[in-house]
Amino acid sequence: MSERVEDDIFLVRQEMRSGWTCNVVLVFGEDRIGVVDTGYGNTPEDYVFPLIEGQGRRLDEVSVLVNTHRDGDHIGGNSVLKKVTGAPVAAHELEMEAVPTADTKLGVEVSLGDRTFKVIHTPGHRPGAVCLYDEVGKVLLTGDSVCGTRENLIRMDRDVYIDSLRRLLELDVELMIMSHPFDPLGKDVLRGDEARQMIEASIEVAVNLKD
Ligand SMILES: [Zn+2]
Repeated sequence: MSERVEDDIFLVRQEMRSGWTCNVVLVFGEDRIGVVDTGYGNTPEDYVFPLIEGQGRRLDEVSVLVNTHRDGDHIGGNSVLKKVTGAPVAAHELEMEAVPTADTKLGVEVSLGDRTFKVIHTPGHRPGAVCLYDEVGKVLLTGDSVCGTRENLIRMDRDVYIDSLRRLLELDVELMIMSHPFDPLGKDVLRGDEARQMIEASIEVAVNLKD
């Protein structure tokens, strides 16, 4: 299932075995489309390609695929998407080895559709996890970098995670899209002050973790 979040931003929600969803974000520009993460192996054929074609667009308009981090629910559709669209697959340099389909290291910025996103390195869940921030549109894509109450997803030193989240708090965000509907807010599309609430709640969870 998919949802139009902004004029040019769509979200695809792939059901997970846990009953949750993992998301693919698509940013449609005038003549190119940016994709963030790919869900599972079936996700491109089942959801992403029909969405693109349903908008009257061509699959070869996908200009880049960005992976927020290495996990299977984020890179599972990479090879299909890469093969069909011909798009390069970009990841943070610390994730490259763990993402066999990745062929391009993320720089400081990446163009998705007609928007420019800053690449913000946010280790904590994974060493090369990134968030993508459109400063003009005030849009933040967090992948799994903001884990809410899921403390088991803080896979690195909690201080590293907390530092990443504190840097996110400095951003001016009107729309935040997470890859899963993490609690305490329990949704993946957060607007206005909800973004700050979610990040602050996530920091709180990490601060209160027992050593
Ligand atoms: Zn995930």
